[in-house]
Amino acid sequence: LPDRRVSVVTGGNRGIGLEICKQLAFKGVTVILTARDEKRGVEAVKNLAAQGLSNILFHQLEVGDLSSAAHLADFIREKFGKLDILVNNAGIVGTTTEISNPESFKQELADMDGLEKLEWIRKHTTEPYDKAKECLITNYHGTKIVTEELLPLLQFSSHGRVVNVSSHFGLLRFFSGEELKEELNNIDSLSEQRLDELSELFLKDFKDGQLEPLGWPKKFTAYKVSKALMNAYSRILAKEHPSLCINCVHPGYVQTDMNLQAGDLPVEEGARGALMMAMAPKGGVTGAYLDKTEVASFV
Ligand code: NDP
Repeated sequence: LPDRRVSVVTGGNRGIGLEICKQLAFKGVTVILTARDEKRGVEAVKNLAAQGLSNILFHQLEVGDLSSAAHLADFIREKFGKLDILVNNAGIVGTTTEISNPESFKQELADMDGLEKLEWIRKHTTEPYDKAKECLITNYHGTKIVTEELLPLLQFSSHGRVVNVSSHFGLLRFFSGEELKEELNNIDSLSEQRLDELSELFLKDFKDGQLEPLGWPKKFTAYKVSKALMNAYSRILAKEHPSLCINCVHPGYVQTDMNLQAGDLPVEEGARGALMMAMAPKGGVTGAYLDKTEVASFV
């Protein structure tokens, strides 16, 4: 029987998202490659079609925009009547890199190992408030907006799966505040509303230069908070929807534009965990965090 599964990948025009689209399509799944920029998205679909992948179509999606997500949901409802796989991959790091000419530092980075590269990037980045806010909106609220819009369509699938492309940086070990850490780990008493409040509280503390008292993470602060909130949201959702498979996946440290191509893994490797969870058979793990392809702790 032909594979009639339908999938959506956010931020599918480049990096890990593009590779996930490619691998899903190779497996015969119909892929809706989404991108916030129509031109970049259409271009990506064209390139994949040139590689022989004809089961990929484009739809615009800016994850932080409710009306954009609603348009996508309408499109899928009309065309397919259901959705089987949602991969929330779109993300930003929430920093600015003070490097004007990317080519000039490539050589410098070439001889470093992963940790040295990360340290080098750290030294060259700043974390202004507007970027921190954008990071929370994209990584946490964006994931929520898209998931909420598409959940009704996932209910029409015989086995819906949601894969949230998270990060090692979203682990609770990066929070020094014990209360905060405990609250974010205590899924039974946590609510989506409380996660939204924590997002607000974080941005207020960030703006006021008050990250210490509650023990928010240091360095790549907004990124770490956004992914920790994404993880907690994913766990709450998994509990509320036991018929779906909803998991978070850390792709590894992958060579993409996000880290100026300084990662250790090629995108083919980085997409493996997400692919595994997207294609997981019924009855598989849900509400979990995977470090690449292995189930690991959220802490
Ligand atoms: P890239 O920067 O290469 O790609 C990010 C993608 O997200 C792009 O397609 C980008 O679109 C899209 N995007 C960003 N903001 C939005 C938005 N508001 N609406 C829609 N699309 C958006 O990053 P990676 O491929 O490396 O990252 C993919 C995911 O993997 C992210 O969630 C990241 O946090 C996670 N991750 C990556 C790691 C790594 O080592 N690379 C490590 C751990 C986690 P556009 O082209 O328009 O900017």
